[in-house]
Amino acid sequence: GEGLPRPEQTRIMVVANQKGGVGKTTTTVNLAASLALHGARVLVIDLDPQGNASTALGVDHHSEVPSIYDVLVESMPLSDVVQPVPDVEGLFCAPATIDLAGAEIELVSLVARESRLQRALSAYEQPLDYVLIDCPPSLGLLTVNALVAGAEVLIPIQCEYYALEGLGQLLRNVDLVKGHLNTQLHVSTIILTMYDGRTRLASQVADEVRNHFSAEVLRTNIPRSVRISEAPSYGQTVLTYDPGSSGSLSYLEAAREIALRDPNVQQRHDESVQQL
Ligand code: ADP
Ligand code: MG
Repeated sequence: GEGLPRPEQTRIMVVANQKGGVGKTTTTVNLAASLALHGARVLVIDLDPQGNASTALGVDHHSEVPSIYDVLVESMPLSDVVQPVPDVEGLFCAPATIDLAGAEIELVSLVARESRLQRALSAYEQPLDYVLIDCPPSLGLLTVNALVAGAEVLIPIQCEYYALEGLGQLLRNVDLVKGHLNTQLHVSTIILTMYDGRTRLASQVADEVRNHFSAEVLRTNIPRSVRISEAPSYGQTVLTYDPGSSGSLSYLEAAREIALRDPNVQQRHDESVQQL
């Protein structure tokens, strides 16, 4: 790995957008692999019952495997479920099994139901530079647990029609959690995904996003690429599946930007954000 600066404290990034199919999981696993290839120690927490991040990282997550469900609901130590990701040094994953589908309901009656992930992470003793949390496409208790555990919210936005639709709701939830449960929380990073530079729509959406947000939007857009979408079916990130591809290079560059950025970038466009 190249010598990028390592954060002084573990940066916990919540990858969230309650829309499905916008590139949350793809961005989580490929950014995580990129940061690890740049020399960082990175943990991916799969918080989606679909387990797509676990699959994409080639990590075992059949129903018998100790998983993030056990951590959240059974108070199992996080270190008991974390697995090394094959072929990528410094990359680890806390997998999700299908059990997690029930957690949204089971959490309701547990004590400290919003802060169970935060507690598990605080007790985790292995040194980490980054934790990336892949959220489900909803704003329920699983996502709330992620928002309580993290300081930074990373929002992938798909360069498509209605890209900003629903974002207001996410930002209001971020504000609620910030106000009541986690004062550090802020949107630090927005990444434009599935960008097709040949279409006018993609550049219009990109302009619109850059008008609403400024400092938070990464300069690197992630292109729409078949290689990116093929990699998960081989249990790989695009970084190992096709290291020289445009998708791989763009995620490496996006990771570099994140590593070089101030993790405390705050939202600067509160008024425009409220109009969403
Ligand atoms: P989410 O986690 O938000 O539901 P995913 O990361 O699973 O979204 O992406 C949705 C679909 O789009 C997946 O089939 C994925 O392979 C595909 N995809 C994501 N990013 C890209 C990209 N840059 N180029 C091509 N396909 C992509
Ligand atoms: Mg997903």
